[in-house]
Amino acid sequence: MLTDQNIIDAARLIRAGGLVAFPTETVYGLGANALDAVAVAGVFEVKGRPRFDPLIVHLAEPEQLMDVARSVPPLAMKLIDKFWPGPLSLVLDKQPSIPDIVTAGLSSVAIRCPAHDLARRLIQAAGVPIAAPSANRFGAVSPTTARHVVEQFGDEVPLVLDGGPCRIGLESTVVSFVDSPDGRPTLLRPGGITREEIERVVGTLKIRMHEEAQPASPGQLLRHYAPETRLVLSADGFCTGSSAVKVGLLSFQRPTSPAGFAAIEVLSEQGCLREAAANLFAALRRLDAQGLDFIVARPVPEVDLGHAIMDRLRRAAAR
Ligand code: AMP
Ligand code: MG
Repeated sequence: MLTDQNIIDAARLIRAGGLVAFPTETVYGLGANALDAVAVAGVFEVKGRPRFDPLIVHLAEPEQLMDVARSVPPLAMKLIDKFWPGPLSLVLDKQPSIPDIVTAGLSSVAIRCPAHDLARRLIQAAGVPIAAPSANRFGAVSPTTARHVVEQFGDEVPLVLDGGPCRIGLESTVVSFVDSPDGRPTLLRPGGITREEIERVVGTLKIRMHEEAQPASPGQLLRHYAPETRLVLSADGFCTGSSAVKVGLLSFQRPTSPAGFAAIEVLSEQGCLREAAANLFAALRRLDAQGLDFIVARPVPEVDLGHAIMDRLRRAAAR
């Protein structure tokens, strides 16, 4: 059981420039004091994350926004009113107090207020915003339990706050309000809040989700969220050419013909996308641990959270 003292200790460690892994409703984060460039450098080091990939800054309360953002357009304010605390990150002009390492040298910063009591208590107790990417090595599957973090980092991350499994299980949606001459926001990453939900509040979004020569969002890497086992996305069938090949199946609902697979993970018996999202990363990890030759992932319906799930699967499958 987590105690208030655990949170006080973790907050003290953050203030002293250390790293703490903590739960949010999306995935587990690896946090550092967002105002301390050296502490944030530690996050990049432990994760093996390239310095061009900026971090999201987490707040305990929406009211802390102006400590981090220089200006907030009215449409951004509408999204904040509707979705914070929650799995939505907004890219806004940054305050000079946010060190360059947090934003990879950009003049903007991604900000969110997580909807997780433990995360908010930690940030509140630390008294500073916390910069945090997912608590996994760069490019690998994101952690949705404290155990995933411990398995990945061992002693390298000595303090992991255990808040149980993450409710959403997919990263936050990222929406940018910078570099838009017509003021319309841009969807940079699908995530825990669906595009449809956002568009109901601010109208049609511009979409920019793929790696470009000069990516607007440096983290939009084609290959990401990937298990070590090769993963292929395929709507039906698979051809191994040899019965000695061990194939795993990642299926949205229970498959009608499971024959031929050495291991099967069903994301949602009921066919519920929310449940599938919450199970996705843990299911990928279980398949990855089975010594399979490859994993076949079946597409999920591309509606609501299905967009974000398919985004993760496509990146996991990219070579
Ligand atoms: P992660 O920490 O893995 O959840 O990734 C955060 C992602 O948010 C980054 O990889 C970027 O794609 C995006 N992001 C963060 N800060 C910015 C920014 N200032 N401008 C554009 N995208 C950003
Ligand atoms: Mg990540």
